[in-house]
Amino acid sequence: MELLKEKIKEVGIVVSDEVIKLDAILNHAIDPVLTTAMGREFARRFAEDKITKVVTIESSGIPIAFAAAQELNVPLVFARRKKTLNTATDTYCERVPSFTKGMVTDIMVAKEFLHESDRVLLIDDFIANGDAAKGLIRIIQRSGATLVGVGIAVEKSFQAGGRSIREQGIRVESLVRIASLANGAIRFE
Ligand code: 5GP
Repeated sequence: MELLKEKIKEVGIVVSDEVIKLDAILNHAIDPVLTTAMGREFARRFAEDKITKVVTIESSGIPIAFAAAQELNVPLVFARRKKTLNTATDTYCERVPSFTKGMVTDIMVAKEFLHESDRVLLIDDFIANGDAAKGLIRIIQRSGATLVGVGIAVEKSFQAGGRSIREQGIRVESLVRIASLANGAIRFE
């Protein structure tokens, strides 16, 4: 997606060989025009897949997932992050390591918002090692819903997340793929 690539070149700050800061468009401030365009692109790619629900994780996935859900005309559900593992029987909980925060968080979705009849599109802002997406995939699978695919705004393809999810036979669509952040330079695939 050229528009996103251009924005990343304009506002992206390479923090290390592994991390790029996109606070100006994804993680702190939101560009509504760009976000709407990203949602439209995800909706176009999954237009034939009879999606009934978009699922993401708070917080940075929500704007893009909302835009996709609006385009697909389906509800959005976001997994919430909890400080302690919620053992309530009416929620699905999974423990996931956080790539950027260097700690473990528990994510949860109330059972009432995911059903066996759902055809789910999972959306997130970044994929690095894939732990966040995999936690959410486990929740979707436990609910009995069908995971149709995963939509990621920025895939860092030098990290293993996207590849290992594709190896599970799951369709992963990323809007841009960053091949390297070495030496402070953003290199797209
Ligand atoms: P993963 O679980 O795939 O290792 O990491 C995914 C999560 O970590 C994303 O939802 C995102 O919030 C955060 N993340 C991973 N890599 C980056 C990065 O390079 N920049 C920013 N801003 N967030 C990242």
